[in-house]
Amino acid sequence: MTSKKKIAIIGGGITGLAAAYELTQQARRTNSKIDIELFEQAPELGGKIITKKDDPYVVEGGPDCFIVEKPWALQLVKELGIENELLNTSSGASGTFVFDNNALHRLPEGVMMMVPTKMIPFISSKLISWPGKIRMGCDLFIPKRKESGDETLASFVKRRLGQEALDKMAEPLIGGIHAGNPENMSLLSTFPRFLEMEQDGGSLIVGMLKRQKKMAEMMKKRPASPGPKRTFFISLNEGLGRLVDKLATVIGDEKIHCNRKISQLKPTPEGGWLIDAENHEPTVADALIVTTETYAAAEMLENEHPRLADLLNEIPYVSSATISMAFPRQAIPHPLDAYGFIVPKIANRRIMAVTWSSIKWGHRAPQGMVLMRAFVGGAQRQELASCDDQNMLAMVREELSSIMGITSAPEKSWIYRWPKGMPQYIMGHLERLEAIETITKEQKGLYLTGAGYRGIGIPDCINQGRQAAVKALEEIK
Ligand SMILES: Cc1cc2nc3c(=O)[nH]c(=O)nc-3n(C[C@H](O)[C@H](O)[C@H](O)COP(=O)(O)OP(=O)(O)OC[C@H]3O[C@@H](n4cnc5c(N)ncnc54)[C@H](O)[C@@H]3O)c2cc1C
Repeated sequence: MTSKKKIAIIGGGITGLAAAYELTQQARRTNSKIDIELFEQAPELGGKIITKKDDPYVVEGGPDCFIVEKPWALQLVKELGIENELLNTSSGASGTFVFDNNALHRLPEGVMMMVPTKMIPFISSKLISWPGKIRMGCDLFIPKRKESGDETLASFVKRRLGQEALDKMAEPLIGGIHAGNPENMSLLSTFPRFLEMEQDGGSLIVGMLKRQKKMAEMMKKRPASPGPKRTFFISLNEGLGRLVDKLATVIGDEKIHCNRKISQLKPTPEGGWLIDAENHEPTVADALIVTTETYAAAEMLENEHPRLADLLNEIPYVSSATISMAFPRQAIPHPLDAYGFIVPKIANRRIMAVTWSSIKWGHRAPQGMVLMRAFVGGAQRQELASCDDQNMLAMVREELSSIMGITSAPEKSWIYRWPKGMPQYIMGHLERLEAIETITKEQKGLYLTGAGYRGIGIPDCINQGRQAAVKALEEIK
């Protein structure tokens, strides 16, 4: 690189921070002269990641963990040197309950992402009726679909496992990850592995068993990795906010501008980008990595690229809220012998799920107290996410009283709302992304990435952010 080039990142969520981190590391490694600036509209970094340390409680407002199966988050934690702070799910409990027919039923042991893999616990479970179990077993004989291509989560599950599996397992478990509606969720954009499994061997049950066997063989062959074993879900002792703080430190304060809402992005005649910010002087960059929600990217680009903005606006988002509550242990009549429960839509309640946070994770609440958090809203009941604090708490308390028998008020509560917080990968998502990418490829130095595009989980966001950084760097070279 001859003259000093600048790459600007819009959005200080985990995608933007991962992009800035990658650029910082690459610049250091190659001793390149490159300016990096990150602009975030909020006063704090982290986007959907918010950890509130309200001593002695550690409360997560948004995500509370990431999966290790997708390696990018764990890898980043290792690179940042905070691996020793990783927190496994507690071994004192395991599994989850499903609320059905006015009772909490344990999700049968061996159910992997809605697919039963262990005969005895599945058969003896009261969650699924006998006709429902027989219908799920038919998966073993139903031939694979002849047509290839996308379909909704609902149509796929109904075809392979039947309506009851959709209603009681797939909708709250799989749909719940996206706070989505299985009737319009694109399977190819969210869980392509299910379609692959069907194409490989027909039966999902056989496919899942084969996958388990393959993983077990891999583990046997692989030399035992040094260090502690990791659980499927993982967090950090001080909460996920620690990852945000550590990234900010490594990137460097001087490169980060909070309270900076970007209003417009315009290409310059010199081949760069003019960045207009509300109440601040405009600035110019050679490349842009836009990691905001897609509708926010649309707003910034709509004057220059109305077609691109239209496509970005076609990606829908749904609203949700989390309500964390601290109760004395004796106020809870339930044995709390799992990580929480999920509530299928067919149960017609006003909460989607509850995590027993201090049972699932250590370091979350003091001895004798239980921290739990309820999820409200999502694609099926978005309007509930905008209730005011008093009504929200009253509503969640009524549900907890009826489902878990908790009649007393929590000693403390914390409410976080996520208006238009969860992107929905509905049918047509992949075609929409292709159309978006066709346009952005024509725009020198413009990269759009983040949860709205190719993966909403933290590992996917980190991967997308880092990849966009590598591409932007390559281009300005
Ligand atoms: C309640 C909840 C629970 C979740 N649980 C999990 C979980 O347990 N595990 C998991 O892996 N994932 C979970 N997710 C998903 C995951 O947290 C998000 O998908 C991910 O954090 C999104 O990161 P991001 O950087 O792409 O976007 P965001 O975090 O949305 O960041 C985008 C940033 O852009 C900023 N911005 C927007 N417009 C502008 C502008 N004009 N100028 C400047 N800045 C702007 C925003 O303020 C925001 O900070 C959860 C999400 C929610 C809402």
